[in-house]
Amino acid sequence: MTFYKPYKETKMVCTLCQHYCKIKEGNTGICGVNKNIGDEIECLVYGYPSAMNIDPIEKKPLYHFLPGTNILSIGTVGCNFRCSFCQNWSLSQEHEVDRSRYYSPEEIVQLAIKYECPSIAYTYNEPTIFYPYARDISLEGKKHGIKSVYVSNGFESDEVIEDMEGIIDAINIDLKSFDPKYYKKSLGGNLDKVLENIRRFSKKNIWMEITTLIVPTKNDSDDEINKIASFIANEAGLEVPWHISAFHPDYKDLDLPRTSIESLKRAYEIGKSHGLKYVYMGNIAHQTPTTCPNCNSSLIQRDYYSPTISSLDGSKCPHCGTVIAGVFDE
Ligand code: SF4
Repeated sequence: MTFYKPYKETKMVCTLCQHYCKIKEGNTGICGVNKNIGDEIECLVYGYPSAMNIDPIEKKPLYHFLPGTNILSIGTVGCNFRCSFCQNWSLSQEHEVDRSRYYSPEEIVQLAIKYECPSIAYTYNEPTIFYPYARDISLEGKKHGIKSVYVSNGFESDEVIEDMEGIIDAINIDLKSFDPKYYKKSLGGNLDKVLENIRRFSKKNIWMEITTLIVPTKNDSDDEINKIASFIANEAGLEVPWHISAFHPDYKDLDLPRTSIESLKRAYEIGKSHGLKYVYMGNIAHQTPTTCPNCNSSLIQRDYYSPTISSLDGSKCPHCGTVIAGVFDE
């Protein structure tokens, strides 16, 4: 499976993300890590993760997918966005690939098995730019019952989205704002494409959760939070978990304050007012529990400092039998 095609006489077009970069021989696209080498586009980071950790899956964040398990998490250098508040900027805005150690897809899967991780996350930077690698790892993982998780800015190409079903099991998409100008100027993306991709993922057999980092003065007005919550409720679905996450100053946005608890609570109430069943405040010490949307029983408790405790009966509330959306009983 290739994700490029010839374009006019002297270029190739990369079909990994919605930028669809048209790249001359010897050059790389916007992400800096997919290079036209003549008759093909080489993904320069294939086999070269620059970060690898074992994280609680709640940290991705995914709250309705194998809660309480660990996930082998890998990322590379490069990104197709350039968010001024990026909390992984030393990876995402770096283009120099460290080739000192090659990790084959088989080795990555063996590490997941060794460390008892039932899933692998492609995270830290945008995984779509290294989809050929993530895809091969995921297919290898399938042979061993290991699931695959994408933590993404939602800028996948049409071709990648079509390919992901049956390969990637869950995705968390950042919906960073509802302002098209902000998406274009400050992030280097395109709001309409991200919204369209969220609509598409909502129809796929891939478990989806959405995250919005609440950045003071940038996207925290009631109007904007209402638009985001309304979109998720009406176009992705009331059962899609929405994580509203606290910002801390990083990268180029060092002068902005941290997100206040009051601001997170306001966003939480707005999300609930649109009928969203699962709204979570994140990046704070005391995480929001999962409660049953029918009888309001507390079902999953989580905290930064202690293990996640689930009282679910498979995927059901043990008190009233309501099915909780997600992937729980593997
Ligand atoms: S992954 Fe996206 S940004 Fe990178 S070369 Fe391909 S189309 Fe361009």
